[in-house]
Parts: sequence; C-alpha cells; structure tokens
Amino acid sequence: MHATNAFDRRYLTVYGENMTTQLLQNYAAGRWQTGTGAGTPLFDPVLGTELVRVSNAGMDLKEAFAFAREQGGKALRALSYKQRAALLSDIVKVLSDNKAAYYDIATANSGTTTKDSAVDIDGGIFTIGTYAKLGEKLGDAQFLLDGERIRMGKDPLFQSQHILTPTHGVALFINAFNFPSWGLWEKAAPALLSGVPVIIKPATATAWLTQRMVQDVVNANILPAGALSVICGSSAGLMDQLEAFDVVSFTGSADTARIIRSHPAVAQKSVRCNIEADSLNSALLDPAAAADSEAFNLLVSEVTREMMVKSGQKCTAIRRVFVPAALYEAVAAAISAKLKKTTVGNPRNEAVRMGALVSKEQYDGVLAGIEVLKQEASVLFDGNNADLVDADKAVAACVAPVLLGTQTPATAKILHEVEVFGPVCTLMAYKDIGEAHALIQRGEGSLVMSVYSDNPAFIAQTAAALGSHHGRIHAISPDVAALHTGHGNVMPVSLHGGPGRAGGGEELGGLRALNFYHRRTAVQASTAALDAMAATATKLEM
Ligand code: NAP
Repeated sequence: MHATNAFDRRYLTVYGENMTTQLLQNYAAGRWQTGTGAGTPLFDPVLGTELVRVSNAGMDLKEAFAFAREQGGKALRALSYKQRAALLSDIVKVLSDNKAAYYDIATANSGTTTKDSAVDIDGGIFTIGTYAKLGEKLGDAQFLLDGERIRMGKDPLFQSQHILTPTHGVALFINAFNFPSWGLWEKAAPALLSGVPVIIKPATATAWLTQRMVQDVVNANILPAGALSVICGSSAGLMDQLEAFDVVSFTGSADTARIIRSHPAVAQKSVRCNIEADSLNSALLDPAAAADSEAFNLLVSEVTREMMVKSGQKCTAIRRVFVPAALYEAVAAAISAKLKKTTVGNPRNEAVRMGALVSKEQYDGVLAGIEVLKQEASVLFDGNNADLVDADKAVAACVAPVLLGTQTPATAKILHEVEVFGPVCTLMAYKDIGEAHALIQRGEGSLVMSVYSDNPAFIAQTAAALGSHHGRIHAISPDVAALHTGHGNVMPVSLHGGPGRAGGGEELGGLRALNFYHRRTAVQASTAALDAMAATATKLEM
C-alpha cells in the first residue's frame, strides 16, 4: 500500500496540476509542438487505464530535420569533444535529479518493477556518464586521427593519414518499446559527443518516458538549439526527410528493419543505417560440467534471471539454452524450481518480482508465440496457473515464466527461428560440442551468447568457434561469478549488436561508437601538412 500511495503522489506531479489526460508535446525546430487530432493513447499495462496520448499529425517534418541538421549540427560541431563531453555530464545531472518521475512513468507505462525500471533508467544515465568520461579524454580537438600515417612510396615526405570528421547531418533514432530510456541515451550519447544532432522517435507504446527525459534536458537549456528533438507518434514521413549525410539507427523487429533498409534514403542516397533487430541468444553449458557443479549452478541462475528481468523483454535475453543431454533433466528441474518462486503482478506491490509486458498487444503476441514454440517443444514449467499479485488476470498484460524444452533440437525449425519477446526460453539437449555449435549457429547471428565453464581453454575455443556469429560472448566461470555484468546487460564499453538476423549493426563499444557518426577520409599530403593537421586533432585510441 505504501508503494501505491507514493506512486500516486508523484503521479500527480508528473501530470501537472489540472491534467486528466494529456497530449504529449513534440520538441522540434527549437520549439514545443502539439500534434493535431485526438492522438494515440498510451496505457498502463497492469491497470488497463489510459495515461497520455501522442501525436505528430500536422507537424512540419521538413522544417524539423532542416533545423536540427543546420542549426543543431553547426552549433555542436563548433564545440570540441571535451566541451560536448561536458554537456553530457550536465545531462547526467539533470536526469539524475528527475529520476523519481522517470520511475513513476516506467511503472505506469511499462509495468516494470523498480529493479527492472533501473535497468532502463539508470542504465541510460550510466551510459551517458561513461561517454562523458571517454569524451573528456578527446580534449579540445574537433576531429580525430584514425591510425598512423602510412608511407605512399619510397620517399617518406608524401604520406596518408586517415581522419574522422563528424558527419554534417542529423541522426534519426527509431527505437523499440522495451528501452525508452537506455535506447535513447545509448545512441544519443555517442552522437552528441560526435557533434551530430539527434531526432528521437520512440516506440509509441512507451513514448512517455523518452519524451519526459528530453523535456527535462530541453528545459534545463543544456544543449544548443536543434541538438535534441523528440517526435512521438507515427513514423510516417520520417525516413523521407533523410539526406545523404544523415544517419538512421533503428532498433526493433526484423520486419520493420526490412522496411528501413529498403527505404530510398538508404538504398539510393547512401544514408548510413544501423539496425539492431531481434535475436535468438544462446546459453551454452560446458560438456564437462557435472550436475550441481559451479558451472551448472551459474547457468541455472543466469537463465532464470534472464527470463525474469523486464519480463524477458530484452533483445539480449537468453532464448535457447544448450546443455549436455545427460544433464537435460537436472537443468530443467533446477530452473523450474527457481521459477516457481517468481511472483508476478502489479509492480507497485513490493512482493512482486516480475511486472507486466508493455501492452495487451505484446501479451497476446507472447501467448501466441508460446503456442507456436510448443509445436516443437514440451512445457517444462509454466507459471501461468498461479494467481497474479494485486492484478486482474482479465486486464493486466502479465505473463508468468514459461520454460520449454526439447531433447531433439536438431530436428526443430521453429525453435531456431521464432523469437518470443517475453519470459520464455527453450532448453535444448546436445549430444556433443560439435552439435551444440551447429545448433547455436542456427540462430543465424545473435547479439550475445553466454558460456558456462570452469575451463579457460573451453571458453577460448568457444569464442574462436562462435565469435563470427555473435556481437558479444559472455563467459561465466566460477572465478567471476560475483563480478560478471550479466548475460543480458549491455555495458557501454563493450560492443552491442550482432550479425545476420540480429541486424548486422554495431553500437557502443566505447569510442568505437563514434565511427558511426563520423566520416573517414584519407588525407594524402606532405609531412608538413600532416603535421599541421595533427596539431589540431586527437588520435582516436579505442
Ligand atoms: P517494431 O514494431 O519494429 O517497432 C520499432 C520502431 O519502429 C517503433 O518506434 C515503431 O513505431 C517504428 N516503426 C514501425 N513501423 C515503421 C515503419 N514502417 N517505418 C519506420 N518506423 C516504423 O519493434 P518493437 O515491437 O517496438 O520492438 C520489439 C523488437 O525489437 C523485438 O523483436 C526485439 O528483439 C527488438 N529489439 C532489438 C534490440 C537490439 O538492440 N537489437 C533492442 C530492443 C529490441 P511505433 O511504435 O509507433 O509503431
């Protein structure tokens, strides 16, 4: 009850004094703009109540993009990396000061527990802070040196030096519903540090948190006009605004990714495009592991955690778990025993461990997806027979964890193709490590896999064998049991993205992220000219 009251109090603050329902404003072309029409409602996925509405109908998108590109870009590029890093630090302060409101919005609009909201909210703020620190080291320069000078012939006087300069365009972000905070800031931090203005189009279902964070940053007057814009609601017409030096970064489903990739802006104008799409991430247990060994228990804990964090609505969540055939039953029993303790329901109740999915549409999609997977897998655990805590099953978009399993994964097709974006994963038995590798590769490219072993050589072999299919390999051995950052957690210093069906994109990875927002140019000139250039630039050290 206490949690509910605290929420209600702050809820009123979030809404403003006289609000019952409000149309969120968009910020573009240096001013707040209200879309026309009734707008699209956003809902509380636990209570089913309407929260706010979004609309960008009637907005002049051409003006919005031109303003960001011309005014925002010019002003940002006039600053050094160090100055832009200082702006990021100021953003961290403003967002940290307003965190309570973000938690309230997340509870209301995403249905997440405080712990799950933190992954998004604090994860986003932590990422900006990391780029503020990395950027400060780049100093007073306005462009970067990439690598060493290379001799072009016998005489060392004429050489080539690669440089990186910020692209003279705008960065359009089209984001997914599951990370309205982190999804914005993990992209915006490297873009703003690079000197590239940002236009964020959040997924409609959870747009409120993104809009509110941008509002706080805009109201704090931190960034130059045009550096940060938010356009909520329909995506119609956004891609049409892109020009040759703009970039677009998309996170979402493979189906929408196909539309983005084939848009004329990308296909004909060479607009640089980064795609983060869905992924059937794996966990692999060492064939030498024994039941109840440390590696075994670490896998059981991590799989259980990954199923529950954000109700499995993480692009990095473990979807397929590969264990030696002899351990299949023991792993199934151990994970099921942990899942049984999960309390699902209203995240305002402190007894609840797992909140809701973000919407009724996702709820329907996840239940339908489970039925599809069941064509090739049996149910090892299903928590959906238990009551919800403080929530009405007929209204709340709450799905309890479901563990599926198969002892013949080689004959399965759907299990290696269909991502169910909820607290669902499938246990798979493998005969030998060769089969395990082949089955993992049937995910056709994933964001991340984790490997559980106490043998450093086995971990090294796994990385070499499966690296090409993954953006990240997370090895959990007993010596790092208490230290590791989690299979699904994306850390700003490590690469995020994956090949193949995961979209083929790359984000984060420390200063590597700046590559996307810069153009690489080979400057072929005399040593004296290259010396003059080097005097005003900073060498990019990854
Ligand atoms: P989605 O339906 O593809 O939507 C993603 C974004 O695209 C939303 O902002 C959506 O706007 C917009 N959009 C929809 N149609 C569009 C179009 N024709 N042109 C331009 N934009 C369009 O994906 P989602 O359901 O929000 O996200 C879930 C998926 O994202 C999952 O499959 C998950 O694996 C993936 N994901 C991947 C990562 C990663 O980093 N790889 C991270 C998170 C999620 P509206 O909301 O207004 O429709």
